[in-house]
Amino acid sequence: ERMMASEAGSYDEQFELSLRPQRLAQYIGQHKVKENLQIFIEAAKLRQESLDHVLLYGPPGLGKTTLAAVIANEMNVNVRMTSGPAIERPGDLAAILSSLEPGDVLFIDEIHRLPRAIEEVLYPAMEDFCLDIVVGKGPEARSVRLDLPPFTLVGATTRAGALSAPLRDRFGVLLRLEYYDNTSLAEIVVRSSHLFDVEIEQVAALEMATRSRGTPRIANRLLKRVRDYAQVLGDGMITEGLAKQALELLQVDPRGLDHIDHKLVTNMIERFRGGPVGLDTLAASIGEERVTIEDVYEPYLMQIGFIQRTPRGRVATHSAYEHFGYEYPQQT
Ligand code: ADP
Repeated sequence: ERMMASEAGSYDEQFELSLRPQRLAQYIGQHKVKENLQIFIEAAKLRQESLDHVLLYGPPGLGKTTLAAVIANEMNVNVRMTSGPAIERPGDLAAILSSLEPGDVLFIDEIHRLPRAIEEVLYPAMEDFCLDIVVGKGPEARSVRLDLPPFTLVGATTRAGALSAPLRDRFGVLLRLEYYDNTSLAEIVVRSSHLFDVEIEQVAALEMATRSRGTPRIANRLLKRVRDYAQVLGDGMITEGLAKQALELLQVDPRGLDHIDHKLVTNMIERFRGGPVGLDTLAASIGEERVTIEDVYEPYLMQIGFIQRTPRGRVATHSAYEHFGYEYPQQT
């Protein structure tokens, strides 16, 4: 969404849907996560039970929604998708829960944004597959228990720490998605190209992978743009030369950093002498929310070693100075 702000949401969603792997075997990378899931899924199937509730956490675009659908496919059940902010009243959640078929997967994206009152509906649902509903008002009011079919809740969040402890404790399986390495991202680019019926050179795929911030969603969007260049400027095939030319024209940073990454790091360098600077101060200085920096930008900048976290605040590293063309200050 950051890279191609002009695109309409629905078209973008269609595009993403068309590229989603359906089965675990098609889901590229994330070996640890897949290995674990494979075992839990097999075991649940052997016991003919619903899969334990799964919490997926990690930065946006790494494949949490995709994985929820994959889990449902592997369990041979339906998936119902919603998000924390979309559920406004306890009744909304009760309606969704009571419409599930036995074994179904309920996916709640941004589950850390569920209001507390709604979280409380989830507790007995997750633990005992039932709903506690209050009927009547005042002294007449009483609580009624409704049984639910067994189901699997798959929750997604950018940070496990953002969840309340009682909710987090009710997940049997906690899986953290990692940024993808360039080999896996290149594999995703090649796979998507095939789905588009576009030929691509391995080196071109790798070139695009290195500029995708470890994130499949970004890799796929880059591919979409580069494909346009290939069709207009070339003969449709994405060669190394064409990919380089297109990425140059698209002004994609060699490390895949976008203008907010740029602003964040150059601000640290120019206004705070490279830090240490506190997260709140930094957020205010570039006019972004603290949580956005913490959950979306900082993790990747730390991963590539441009930012370090110290007890006194964030520090820009030597590599960051170099990348953005600043001279690193002499230590005294
Ligand atoms: P999230 O829910 O974590 O924000 P998504 O599941 O929406 O991320 O994934 C974004 C896009 O990246 C999807 O369209 C999907 O095609 C692609 N994608 C994500 N993970 C993988 C993967 N492991 N293998 C192949 N494609 C992937």
